[in-house]
Amino acid sequence: MLGRMMHQPLSVGSLIDHAARYHADTEIVSALTEGGFERTTWGEVGANARRIGSALRARGLEPGDRVGTLAWNNRRHLELYFGVPGAGMVCHTLNPRLSPEQLAYIINHASDRMLFVERTFVPLIAPLRDQLSSLRGIVVLGPRDEALAAELPGLLFHDELLAEGDPSAPWPAVEETSPSSLCYTSGTTGNPKGVLYSHRSTLLHAMSVNNRDGLGIGAADSVMPVVPMFHVNAWGIPYAAAAVGARLVMPGPRLDGQSLARLIIDERVTMAAGVPTIWLGLLDALEASGERPESFKRSIVGGSALPPSMRAVFRDRYGVELIHAWGMTETSPLGTLNAPKARHLALPFEQQDEIGTGQGRPPYGVELRIVDAEGHVLPTDGETEGELQIRGHWVLDSYFGQEKPATTWDGWFDTGDIATLDPDGYMVIRDRSKDIIKSGGEWISTVDLENIAISHPKVANAAAIAARHPRWDERPVICAQKRPQSDLTEDELLEWYEGKVPRWQRPDRVIFVETLPLGPTGKVVKARLREVHGNVLWDDAMAEMQAARDPQED
Ligand code: AMP
Repeated sequence: MLGRMMHQPLSVGSLIDHAARYHADTEIVSALTEGGFERTTWGEVGANARRIGSALRARGLEPGDRVGTLAWNNRRHLELYFGVPGAGMVCHTLNPRLSPEQLAYIINHASDRMLFVERTFVPLIAPLRDQLSSLRGIVVLGPRDEALAAELPGLLFHDELLAEGDPSAPWPAVEETSPSSLCYTSGTTGNPKGVLYSHRSTLLHAMSVNNRDGLGIGAADSVMPVVPMFHVNAWGIPYAAAAVGARLVMPGPRLDGQSLARLIIDERVTMAAGVPTIWLGLLDALEASGERPESFKRSIVGGSALPPSMRAVFRDRYGVELIHAWGMTETSPLGTLNAPKARHLALPFEQQDEIGTGQGRPPYGVELRIVDAEGHVLPTDGETEGELQIRGHWVLDSYFGQEKPATTWDGWFDTGDIATLDPDGYMVIRDRSKDIIKSGGEWISTVDLENIAISHPKVANAAAIAARHPRWDERPVICAQKRPQSDLTEDELLEWYEGKVPRWQRPDRVIFVETLPLGPTGKVVKARLREVHGNVLWDDAMAEMQAARDPQED
């Protein structure tokens, strides 16, 4: 007999047990939906997770049943994050910014058995109730409220379920490959698709990505996940924080710059995570108030490309390091994160800075490659652009409810992104394959054009889109949102591109917009901009032709 090591299934239940046992008095601060704040601890969240899990089991829910949540980042949502999978069910986070039709579709598609909702979402769900046939009950995240209970017959309350449950109920045994949570892609085209994470993929993600070159969260941190818990499990931060016992500062529903600045300063947040638009808001608030968030050292930024100019302002003016990361719902999400290697530290600042602006390199546990349209693997020379593919322990194999694998014949997942890769694995996203501008057979990256526009001091935010063109097929057009009271003109912004990109890549037009349309996860919806402005160059060309023809016809 050769020796053997213990085998213990990787499970979400074991994660909260660890946090509750060794970090029992570490604080969880939550901004409440109804206003105000609440302070609990990992110890209380652990006990409440067991309470809620055992109460759901006592009410007849079975292993594998889906439990929906329509909730902000706060303590009760955290209890469900651990209690539902701990007790063998699946925590299905729903994005409240989706349309009622999409929500109904997703709840029915997932066959959710129970649905936990913030009290403010009761009016959103009540009219849909009759369509949601799989649901056995709706639970409001709060104490019993008679006025609400009168609005929707049969309504249950989170705090009543806590009282029904047992804080020392043992977790049932789970297979580590069994599902723990479910999240649907935001689905800009077609119906949203479900990604079903397992206990194993969740634990491996939490442990692998939380190293010094990764999220880098430690027990001495106060972490503020601004990324919502319904957007790819808040990028895995609740799990990683539980694994190391970090203090959590949960921002609730108010994600405007001013509210976040207050929270960061008052609660001495040390690190955070969120999409670039969130940090643009924070920057505006800090510039307006003149405050300095002394405790705030770094933030993980992903979901869409981090503009280098924003990274520079946070670093130079506030001493905050913005760390660029890339991922998808299908990849749990972390695929790459930007951390330097020893040899980079010896490079001149400009070169270090350039490496730091990309999306970074994969942690152990995932692999990347780029391929051409026929699937041939392309060189990793840092220059060749190709379709980005990924495989690894926390990457989707098949979508929820679909037998058919979502992978290529040789087991890779096609991300739909266009990227370059260098020999060290440093990846730069050039574009979403649906967004890239194809001008006369050449590709133009919208990301580059946007970064240049956003670096203009009079621009608040910008998006580059492919507009139809009679000669070149597509040409770049910038949709720009000006800073308040700015007198920026189209010519001025077009001039800004001089010397920054090759001439043929310079945008043809600038269209000023009041605001850019943001999707349910805070990303600019370029498809909508293309719908509205995609014909502008075509229309210009037609008008010119008409004008040229008219005098002759006279
Ligand atoms: P989602 O599944 O909604 O999180 O969207 C995933 C997609 O967001 C990716 O396929 C990318 O197109 C985009 N994305 C995520 N992170 C980044 C990033 N750091 N830079 C550019 N695009 C990103």
